[in-house]
Amino acid sequence: KEQVRINEPLARYTTWRIGGPADLFVRPARDEEFDFCLDFARQKGLPLHIMGNGSNLLVRDGGVRGLVLQTGAWRRVMVQDRYIKACAGAMLPPLLALAVRQGLSGLEFAAGIPATVGGALVMNAGTPEGSIGDVVREVEVITATGRRCLKREEITFGYRSCSLRGAGVVLTVHLALAPADPPLIKERVRANIARRRARQPLEWPNAGSVFKNPPGLYAGRLIELVGAKGWQVGDAQVSSKHANFIVNLGRATAADVLELIARVQEAVARNFGINLEMEIEVWG
Ligand code: FAD
Repeated sequence: KEQVRINEPLARYTTWRIGGPADLFVRPARDEEFDFCLDFARQKGLPLHIMGNGSNLLVRDGGVRGLVLQTGAWRRVMVQDRYIKACAGAMLPPLLALAVRQGLSGLEFAAGIPATVGGALVMNAGTPEGSIGDVVREVEVITATGRRCLKREEITFGYRSCSLRGAGVVLTVHLALAPADPPLIKERVRANIARRRARQPLEWPNAGSVFKNPPGLYAGRLIELVGAKGWQVGDAQVSSKHANFIVNLGRATAADVLELIARVQEAVARNFGINLEMEIEVWG
Protein backbone atom coordinates (compact mmCIF):
# COMPACT_ATOMS: atom_id res chain seq x y z
CA LYS A 1 0.00 0.00 0.00
CA GLU A 2 2.81 2.40 0.94
CA GLN A 3 4.30 1.95 -2.52
CA VAL A 4 1.24 3.41 -4.22
CA ARG A 5 1.73 7.04 -5.17
CA ILE A 6 -1.16 9.43 -5.60
CA ASN A 7 -1.28 12.06 -8.38
CA GLU A 8 2.15 11.02 -9.68
CA PRO A 9 3.22 13.22 -12.63
CA LEU A 10 3.78 10.88 -15.59
CA ALA A 11 6.09 13.33 -17.39
CA ARG A 12 8.81 11.74 -15.21
CA TYR A 13 8.23 8.37 -16.83
CA THR A 14 7.82 9.23 -20.52
CA THR A 15 10.72 9.84 -22.91
CA TRP A 16 8.88 12.93 -24.23
CA ARG A 17 8.94 14.29 -20.65
CA ILE A 18 5.28 15.18 -21.14
CA GLY A 19 2.20 14.02 -19.25
CA GLY A 20 -0.17 14.92 -16.45
CA PRO A 21 -0.66 12.87 -13.25
CA ALA A 22 -1.87 9.33 -12.73
CA ASP A 23 -4.56 9.07 -10.04
CA LEU A 24 -2.63 6.08 -8.66
CA PHE A 25 0.81 4.88 -9.65
CA VAL A 26 2.73 1.76 -8.67
CA ARG A 27 5.99 0.03 -9.67
CA PRO A 28 5.78 -3.65 -8.68
CA ALA A 29 9.14 -5.25 -7.99
CA ARG A 30 7.97 -8.76 -7.11
CA ASP A 31 5.91 -11.33 -8.94
CA GLU A 32 3.05 -11.44 -6.43
CA GLU A 33 2.72 -7.63 -6.44
CA PHE A 34 1.39 -7.84 -10.00
CA ASP A 35 -1.48 -10.07 -8.88
CA PHE A 36 -2.14 -7.76 -5.95
CA CYS A 37 -2.31 -4.66 -8.18
CA LEU A 38 -4.56 -6.37 -10.72
CA ASP A 39 -6.92 -7.63 -8.00
CA PHE A 40 -6.95 -4.19 -6.38
CA ALA A 41 -7.84 -2.46 -9.68
CA ARG A 42 -10.54 -5.06 -10.40
CA GLN A 43 -12.11 -4.81 -6.93
CA LYS A 44 -12.16 -1.01 -6.98
CA GLY A 45 -13.33 -0.86 -10.60
CA LEU A 46 -10.27 1.21 -11.57
CA PRO A 47 -9.06 1.44 -15.17
CA LEU A 48 -5.61 -0.20 -15.33
CA HIS A 49 -2.81 1.09 -17.57
CA ILE A 50 0.47 -0.77 -18.06
CA MET A 51 3.51 1.38 -18.69
CA GLY A 52 6.97 0.29 -19.76
CA ASN A 53 9.58 2.98 -20.41
CA GLY A 54 6.96 5.40 -21.79
CA SER A 55 8.90 5.68 -25.07
CA ASN A 56 5.82 5.31 -27.25
CA LEU A 57 3.33 7.25 -25.14
CA LEU A 58 1.78 10.68 -25.23
CA VAL A 59 0.03 11.26 -21.91
CA ARG A 60 -2.49 14.11 -22.06
CA ASP A 61 -1.95 17.13 -19.81
CA GLY A 62 -4.94 16.22 -17.65
CA GLY A 63 -3.30 12.89 -16.82
CA VAL A 64 -4.77 9.42 -16.50
CA ARG A 65 -7.65 8.15 -14.39
CA GLY A 66 -7.23 4.90 -12.51
CA LEU A 67 -4.07 2.93 -11.75
CA VAL A 68 -0.86 3.11 -13.75
CA LEU A 69 1.39 0.09 -13.25
CA GLN A 70 4.94 0.87 -14.38
CA THR A 71 7.17 -2.15 -14.91
CA GLY A 72 10.61 -0.53 -14.48
CA ALA A 73 11.37 -2.17 -11.12
CA TRP A 74 10.63 -5.67 -12.47
CA ARG A 75 13.75 -6.22 -14.55
CA ARG A 76 15.63 -9.42 -13.66
CA VAL A 77 17.34 -11.20 -16.54
CA MET A 78 18.67 -14.76 -16.81
CA VAL A 79 20.76 -16.37 -19.53
CA GLN A 80 20.95 -20.08 -20.25
CA ASP A 81 22.79 -21.37 -23.30
CA ARG A 82 21.34 -19.39 -26.20
CA TYR A 83 18.18 -18.37 -24.32
CA ILE A 84 17.49 -15.19 -22.38
CA LYS A 85 14.58 -14.90 -19.96
CA ALA A 86 13.82 -11.29 -19.14
CA CYS A 87 11.28 -9.75 -16.78
CA ALA A 88 9.06 -7.27 -18.63
CA GLY A 89 10.68 -4.13 -17.22
CA ALA A 90 14.22 -5.03 -18.35
CA MET A 91 15.50 -2.40 -20.77
CA LEU A 92 16.57 -3.43 -24.27
CA PRO A 93 19.99 -1.67 -24.30
CA PRO A 94 21.44 -3.61 -21.31
CA LEU A 95 19.76 -6.77 -22.61
CA LEU A 96 21.52 -6.28 -25.92
CA ALA A 97 24.82 -5.60 -24.15
CA LEU A 98 24.39 -8.89 -22.28
CA ALA A 99 23.65 -10.75 -25.52
CA VAL A 100 26.79 -9.30 -27.09
CA ARG A 101 28.92 -10.38 -24.11
CA GLN A 102 27.46 -13.89 -24.35
CA GLY A 103 28.08 -14.05 -28.12
CA LEU A 104 24.36 -14.20 -28.90
CA SER A 105 22.95 -12.65 -32.05
CA GLY A 106 19.39 -11.63 -32.98
CA LEU A 107 18.81 -8.49 -30.91
CA GLU A 108 21.12 -6.14 -32.83
CA PHE A 109 18.11 -4.34 -34.37
CA ALA A 110 17.29 -3.13 -30.83
CA ALA A 111 20.44 -1.00 -30.55
CA GLY A 112 19.29 2.43 -29.42
CA ILE A 113 15.60 1.58 -28.82
CA PRO A 114 14.89 2.94 -25.30
CA ALA A 115 12.18 0.39 -24.49
CA THR A 116 11.45 -2.26 -21.91
CA VAL A 117 11.28 -5.79 -23.27
CA GLY A 118 7.56 -5.96 -22.35
CA GLY A 119 6.78 -2.72 -24.19
CA ALA A 120 8.89 -3.85 -27.14
CA LEU A 121 6.99 -7.13 -27.27
CA VAL A 122 3.49 -5.65 -27.36
CA MET A 123 4.55 -3.10 -30.01
CA ASN A 124 6.62 -5.69 -31.87
CA ALA A 125 9.35 -3.04 -31.83
CA GLY A 126 11.92 -3.29 -34.56
CA THR A 127 13.60 -1.89 -37.62
CA PRO A 128 13.89 -3.15 -41.21
CA GLU A 129 16.69 -5.39 -39.81
CA GLY A 130 14.33 -7.34 -37.58
CA SER A 131 11.86 -7.09 -34.75
CA ILE A 132 11.38 -8.64 -31.35
CA GLY A 133 8.74 -11.07 -32.62
CA ASP A 134 11.51 -12.78 -34.64
CA VAL A 135 13.36 -13.87 -31.49
CA VAL A 136 10.52 -14.57 -29.06
CA ARG A 137 10.24 -18.13 -27.81
CA GLU A 138 7.68 -17.88 -25.04
CA VAL A 139 5.82 -15.19 -23.07
CA GLU A 140 4.34 -15.31 -19.60
CA VAL A 141 1.27 -13.12 -19.34
CA ILE A 142 -1.52 -12.35 -16.88
CA THR A 143 -4.87 -12.02 -18.66
CA ALA A 144 -8.43 -11.75 -17.39
CA THR A 145 -8.46 -15.55 -17.15
CA GLY A 146 -5.25 -15.84 -15.11
CA ARG A 147 -1.59 -16.58 -15.80
CA ARG A 148 -0.57 -18.26 -19.01
CA CYS A 149 2.62 -19.23 -20.78
CA LEU A 150 2.23 -18.67 -24.50
CA LYS A 151 4.48 -20.23 -27.12
CA ARG A 152 5.64 -18.13 -30.06
CA GLU A 153 3.11 -19.89 -32.34
CA GLU A 154 0.22 -18.72 -30.13
CA ILE A 155 1.12 -15.04 -30.62
CA THR A 156 0.56 -13.07 -33.83
CA PHE A 157 3.09 -10.38 -34.72
CA GLY A 158 2.71 -7.73 -37.43
CA TYR A 159 4.20 -4.34 -38.29
CA ARG A 160 4.33 -2.67 -34.85
CA SER A 161 1.56 -4.95 -33.67
CA CYS A 162 1.16 -8.00 -31.48
CA SER A 163 -1.93 -9.95 -30.47
CA LEU A 164 -0.99 -9.41 -26.80
CA ARG A 165 -1.39 -5.62 -26.95
CA GLY A 166 -4.13 -4.67 -24.53
CA ALA A 167 -4.73 -8.34 -23.67
CA GLY A 168 -3.09 -8.35 -20.25
CA VAL A 169 0.19 -7.80 -18.45
CA VAL A 170 3.30 -9.30 -19.98
CA LEU A 171 5.40 -10.60 -17.09
CA THR A 172 8.37 -12.31 -18.72
CA VAL A 173 9.68 -12.72 -22.23
CA HIS A 174 11.87 -15.65 -23.27
CA LEU A 175 14.10 -14.98 -26.24
CA ALA A 176 15.90 -17.52 -28.41
CA LEU A 177 19.09 -16.12 -29.92
CA ALA A 178 21.77 -17.58 -32.13
CA PRO A 179 25.44 -18.05 -31.23
CA ALA A 180 27.70 -15.77 -33.26
CA ASP A 181 31.12 -14.20 -33.21
CA PRO A 182 31.08 -11.36 -30.56
CA PRO A 183 33.20 -8.89 -32.63
CA LEU A 184 30.75 -9.34 -35.53
CA ILE A 185 27.71 -8.70 -33.33
CA LYS A 186 29.46 -5.73 -31.73
CA GLU A 187 30.18 -4.23 -35.13
CA ARG A 188 26.52 -4.50 -36.20
CA VAL A 189 25.42 -2.83 -32.95
CA ARG A 190 27.99 -0.06 -33.36
CA ALA A 191 26.85 0.60 -36.94
CA ASN A 192 23.17 0.71 -35.92
CA ILE A 193 23.86 3.18 -33.12
CA ALA A 194 25.96 5.39 -35.40
CA ARG A 195 23.15 5.38 -37.99
CA ARG A 196 20.61 6.45 -35.34
CA ARG A 197 22.84 9.23 -34.02
CA ALA A 198 23.30 10.57 -37.54
CA ARG A 199 19.59 10.50 -38.44
CA GLN A 200 17.62 11.02 -35.25
CA PRO A 201 17.31 14.12 -33.02
CA LEU A 202 18.38 12.28 -29.88
CA GLU A 203 19.48 15.50 -28.18
CA TRP A 204 15.81 16.40 -27.44
CA PRO A 205 13.13 14.41 -25.60
CA ASN A 206 11.07 12.49 -28.16
CA ALA A 207 9.04 9.31 -28.63
CA GLY A 208 10.66 7.93 -31.77
CA SER A 209 8.52 7.80 -34.91
CA VAL A 210 5.20 9.53 -34.38
CA PHE A 211 3.46 8.03 -37.44
CA LYS A 212 3.45 4.55 -38.95
CA ASN A 213 4.89 4.22 -42.42
CA PRO A 214 2.03 3.80 -44.91
CA PRO A 215 2.51 0.60 -46.96
CA GLY A 216 5.49 1.04 -49.31
CA LEU A 217 6.11 4.65 -48.19
CA TYR A 218 8.00 6.55 -45.49
CA ALA A 219 5.94 8.83 -43.26
CA GLY A 220 9.02 11.00 -42.68
CA ARG A 221 9.47 11.59 -46.42
CA LEU A 222 5.80 12.60 -46.86
CA ILE A 223 6.07 15.03 -43.94
CA GLU A 224 9.25 16.48 -45.39
CA LEU A 225 7.60 16.90 -48.82
CA VAL A 226 4.73 18.99 -47.38
CA GLY A 227 7.36 21.30 -45.89
CA ALA A 228 6.53 20.50 -42.26
CA LYS A 229 10.09 20.14 -40.99
CA GLY A 230 10.61 22.77 -38.31
CA TRP A 231 6.87 23.43 -37.78
CA GLN A 232 6.31 24.35 -34.16
CA VAL A 233 3.42 24.63 -31.72
CA GLY A 234 4.55 25.92 -28.33
CA ASP A 235 7.71 23.96 -27.53
CA ALA A 236 6.76 20.97 -29.72
CA GLN A 237 8.60 20.91 -33.02
CA VAL A 238 8.69 18.65 -36.09
CA SER A 239 12.38 17.80 -36.05
CA SER A 240 14.40 19.32 -38.86
CA LYS A 241 16.71 16.29 -38.63
CA HIS A 242 14.02 13.59 -38.98
CA ALA A 243 10.52 14.68 -40.01
CA ASN A 244 8.77 11.71 -38.35
CA PHE A 245 10.06 12.83 -34.93
CA ILE A 246 8.41 15.53 -32.83
CA VAL A 247 10.79 16.91 -30.23
CA ASN A 248 10.11 18.63 -26.93
CA LEU A 249 12.24 21.79 -26.92
CA GLY A 250 11.63 22.29 -23.19
CA ARG A 251 8.09 22.96 -22.02
CA ALA A 252 5.97 21.27 -24.68
CA THR A 253 2.56 20.12 -23.53
CA ALA A 254 0.55 17.18 -24.83
CA ALA A 255 -1.89 19.73 -26.31
CA ASP A 256 1.01 21.28 -28.30
CA VAL A 257 2.05 17.85 -29.65
CA LEU A 258 -1.53 16.90 -30.57
CA GLU A 259 -2.08 20.19 -32.38
CA LEU A 260 1.16 19.67 -34.33
CA ILE A 261 0.14 16.09 -35.17
CA ALA A 262 -3.24 17.33 -36.48
CA ARG A 263 -1.54 19.98 -38.66
CA VAL A 264 0.88 17.43 -40.14
CA GLN A 265 -1.92 14.91 -40.80
CA GLU A 266 -4.03 17.60 -42.46
CA ALA A 267 -1.16 18.72 -44.74
CA VAL A 268 -0.28 15.15 -45.78
CA ALA A 269 -3.94 14.29 -46.43
CA ARG A 270 -4.45 17.48 -48.49
CA ASN A 271 -1.31 16.99 -50.58
CA PHE A 272 -1.24 13.21 -51.02
CA GLY A 273 -4.67 11.93 -49.98
CA ILE A 274 -2.94 9.74 -47.37
CA ASN A 275 -4.11 9.48 -43.76
CA LEU A 276 -1.07 9.16 -41.53
CA GLU A 277 -1.82 6.78 -38.72
CA MET A 278 -0.23 7.42 -35.33
CA GLU A 279 2.39 4.95 -34.11
CA ILE A 280 2.46 6.55 -30.68
CA GLU A 281 -0.30 5.81 -28.20
CA VAL A 282 -2.27 8.61 -26.55
CA TRP A 283 -3.30 8.17 -22.90
CA GLY A 284 -5.90 10.13 -20.98
P1 FAD B 1 5.54 2.08 -23.40
O1 FAD B 1 5.75 3.21 -24.35
O2 FAD B 1 5.59 2.37 -21.97
O3 FAD B 1 4.15 1.36 -23.75
C1 FAD B 1 3.83 1.04 -25.09
C2 FAD B 1 2.66 0.06 -25.09
O4 FAD B 1 3.07 -1.16 -24.49
C3 FAD B 1 1.45 0.52 -24.27
O5 FAD B 1 0.29 0.06 -24.90
C4 FAD B 1 1.63 -0.18 -22.93
O6 FAD B 1 0.40 -0.36 -22.25
C5 FAD B 1 2.21 -1.51 -23.41
N1 FAD B 1 3.03 -2.20 -22.43
C6 FAD B 1 4.25 -1.84 -21.95
N2 FAD B 1 4.73 -2.78 -21.13
C7 FAD B 1 3.80 -3.77 -21.06
C8 FAD B 1 3.70 -5.00 -20.36
N3 FAD B 1 4.66 -5.44 -19.55
N4 FAD B 1 2.58 -5.76 -20.55
C9 FAD B 1 1.58 -5.35 -21.37
N5 FAD B 1 1.61 -4.19 -22.04
C10 FAD B 1 2.71 -3.40 -21.89
N6 FAD B 1 10.16 1.64 -31.89
C11 FAD B 1 10.44 0.73 -32.86
O7 FAD B 1 9.65 -0.19 -33.09
N7 FAD B 1 11.60 0.79 -33.58
C12 FAD B 1 12.52 1.75 -33.35
O8 FAD B 1 13.55 1.77 -34.01
C13 FAD B 1 12.25 2.72 -32.33
N8 FAD B 1 13.15 3.70 -32.08
C14 FAD B 1 12.88 4.60 -31.09
C15 FAD B 1 13.83 5.58 -30.81
C16 FAD B 1 13.61 6.49 -29.80
C17 FAD B 1 14.63 7.54 -29.50
C18 FAD B 1 12.41 6.44 -29.04
C19 FAD B 1 12.16 7.41 -27.92
C20 FAD B 1 11.46 5.47 -29.31
C21 FAD B 1 11.68 4.54 -30.34
N9 FAD B 1 10.75 3.55 -30.65
C22 FAD B 1 11.03 2.63 -31.62
C23 FAD B 1 9.44 3.53 -29.97
C24 FAD B 1 9.36 2.71 -28.67
O9 FAD B 1 10.64 2.55 -28.10
C25 FAD B 1 8.71 1.35 -28.90
O10 FAD B 1 7.38 1.48 -29.34
C26 FAD B 1 8.72 0.46 -27.64
O11 FAD B 1 8.18 -0.78 -28.00
C27 FAD B 1 7.94 1.03 -26.45
O12 FAD B 1 8.36 0.33 -25.30
P2 FAD B 1 8.15 0.93 -23.84
O13 FAD B 1 8.70 -0.02 -22.86
O14 FAD B 1 8.65 2.32 -23.76
O15 FAD B 1 6.56 0.90 -23.76
